[in-house]
Amino acid sequence: MEKCFDCPRNCGVDREKTIGFCKEPNKIRVAKIIENFMWEEPCISGDKGALAIFFSGCNLKCSFCQNKEISHIGKGEFYTPAQFRELILSYDLTKFSSIDLVTPTHFSSLLIEALSGLNLPIPIVWNSSGYEKVDMIEKVASIADVFLPDFKYFDSSLALSLSKAGDYFEIASRAVCKMRQLKPNNIFKEGVLVEGVLIRHLALPGQVNDSKKILAFIKENIKNPYISLMSQFIPLGGQIDRRLYPLEYKSLLSYASKLGLNDGYIQDFESADESFIPDF
Ligand code: SF4
Repeated sequence: MEKCFDCPRNCGVDREKTIGFCKEPNKIRVAKIIENFMWEEPCISGDKGALAIFFSGCNLKCSFCQNKEISHIGKGEFYTPAQFRELILSYDLTKFSSIDLVTPTHFSSLLIEALSGLNLPIPIVWNSSGYEKVDMIEKVASIADVFLPDFKYFDSSLALSLSKAGDYFEIASRAVCKMRQLKPNNIFKEGVLVEGVLIRHLALPGQVNDSKKILAFIKENIKNPYISLMSQFIPLGGQIDRRLYPLEYKSLLSYASKLGLNDGYIQDFESADESFIPDF
């Protein structure tokens, strides 16, 4: 890699010599692997759980990030693409429902190199922030079976203040539309999504109107939308110091229903518990 333009930050740095916004060099850094991970949506975790691979670093800086220890600070083992390929092939993949690549965007080029041409028995899930370039999503589609993007904010000042990405909506809306265009149908096998797109939206306390704008955009622009509307926000520092009120979530659910967005998942308030955060 001479200059890195893997993500919308477009740092243009040589990651062999220095680091860009994501703070990760030119090797895949795996912070943690959790086998039989059950905390994703049922169509991702399936009955056996996912082989969840959490990468170090991130191209966003969300002040409410639940995985700050790995996304902001960075830790883990380094792998070349060939070594990462070997790592994946070292598992008996029939013991899992999917391979869950968590926060992979800033390693896009390396992961495409690592995973190209593999014919695996379970789907590869690209579990990302949605802050991704359309041309990179086109390449990622050759290795990923399922896109699992966040779709976080509509308002640019909110995105700037919470994730240091004022252009989040502009970028993510294009990325999510492209994902659906590339994987137009959701295909399930024994309850597991083996091809398709599941869009996640985490409702933020005090930001119901922003969430509604995201839902309206999805309704208007995404064919066969399949969404996961999450209520699990936990205040772990940063600007938002409370959980979502039940009434806020209720208002969002009723708006989604009014729009006809009925396909996907909603969460229990019980989920807003720190025990749901993997311990790094
Ligand atoms: S992947 Fe990292 S170095 Fe490359 S453009 Fe994005 S933030 Fe910058």
